[in-house]
Amino acid sequence: MAKYLAPLVLGLALLFGCNAEENKRKIIIILGAPCAGCGTQSPSIVKTLGVPHLDTGNMLRQASLSGTPAGLTAARMMKEGVLVTDEIVNEVVGDRIKQPDCAKGFLLDGYPRNVAQSAVLDKMLAKTGESVTDIISIDVPMKGLQQCVLHRWTADGGDEWTSNYMAFRVPKSLKSLPPGTKAQCQPDDLKHCNMWDDWTGEPLYRRADDNLETLAERVKIYHAQTYPVLDHYKPQGVVRAIDGYQPEPKVWADIEKGLGLPPSAGLIAVPTLAADVPTPMQAIMLLASGAIAIAVAVLTRSSNSEMSEPLLLE
Ligand code: AMP
Repeated sequence: MAKYLAPLVLGLALLFGCNAEENKRKIIIILGAPCAGCGTQSPSIVKTLGVPHLDTGNMLRQASLSGTPAGLTAARMMKEGVLVTDEIVNEVVGDRIKQPDCAKGFLLDGYPRNVAQSAVLDKMLAKTGESVTDIISIDVPMKGLQQCVLHRWTADGGDEWTSNYMAFRVPKSLKSLPPGTKAQCQPDDLKHCNMWDDWTGEPLYRRADDNLETLAERVKIYHAQTYPVLDHYKPQGVVRAIDGYQPEPKVWADIEKGLGLPPSAGLIAVPTLAADVPTPMQAIMLLASGAIAIAVAVLTRSSNSEMSEPLLLE
C-alpha cells in the first residue's frame, strides 16, 4: 500500500506546488528617477503580462481632481515636487491592489517611493502570503532626464509622448506637420492643438512639474529616499538593474530578460496599439474621404446610369 501511496503523495504535492507557483501573482515594481522611462516601458510590461498598470502619480492626479481635502493636499504637494504623505498614498494603493483586475498581479509604477512605503507594502502583501516578485530599476544620467523633462507631453490617461526627445515617441499629429513646427496644445484652444495621443485620441498637456527646477528637486528626493528602497529589496534577489540610457528596443529587451520573458521584437505593446487607433485628425480624414468616395460614386452612377446598367447586366 505504502508503495503506491508515496508516489501519489509526491504527485499531488508537485501538482499543487506547480499550481501554487502558476497562480502566484506577479507583483512588479518599476523604479526610476523622473523621466527615466518608466512610463514608456510600463505599457509593454502590462500588455505582455496582462496585468494592470498602477501609476501612483496618475492615481494621485486623478484623486486631486476629486476636490476632497486629501486630493487637494496631494495636488499642492505634487505641484511643489515633494512627495505626497505616505498615509494618502498607502491608502490609494492598498484599495487599488484589492480590485479584481489585480488577480494575476500588477505593476506598481512610482510606489514605493521610500522605505516606509515598502514596509507598508510588504505588510499588505504578507497578509495574503505574498511578496514583491520583481523590481525593474531603470537608470538614466541627469542629462538624459533633463532632455526628457523639457519635451515630455502627457495624456490624462497617463500615456507619455515627446515633442522631440525620442523620434519614435513623437505623436503622429506633430510628426505629420512640417519639421520645426512648434508643439502646442491648450485645453481651451483644442482647434490649434497639434499634440494628440496616438492610442487614445486624448489631447496632451505639459505637466506643471515638468521643468528643470522641479526635476532637480525630485531627483534629489529620488536619490535620498527611493534608492534605499532598492537596498531594502536586494537581499530578496528581486532587483533587476536596467540601463535606461540606450536605444529603446535594447532597454525593453533587457527588461524582458530581467522578467524572464521570452524575447520579442522590441516594444511589442506600442506599435500594435499605435497601428490600431487612428488619431482624431486621421479619423476626420478617413470619414471625409469615405464621404467624398460615396458622393462621387452616387453622382457618377446617376449621370452614367444608362451606361452602368448594361455593364451590370453583363
Ligand atoms: P510621477 O507621476 O510618478 O512623476 O509622480 C508625480 C508626483 O506624484 C510626485 O512628485 C509626488 O508628489 C507624487 N507621488 C507619486 N507617487 C508617490 C508616492 N509613492 N509617494 C508619494 N508621492 C508620490
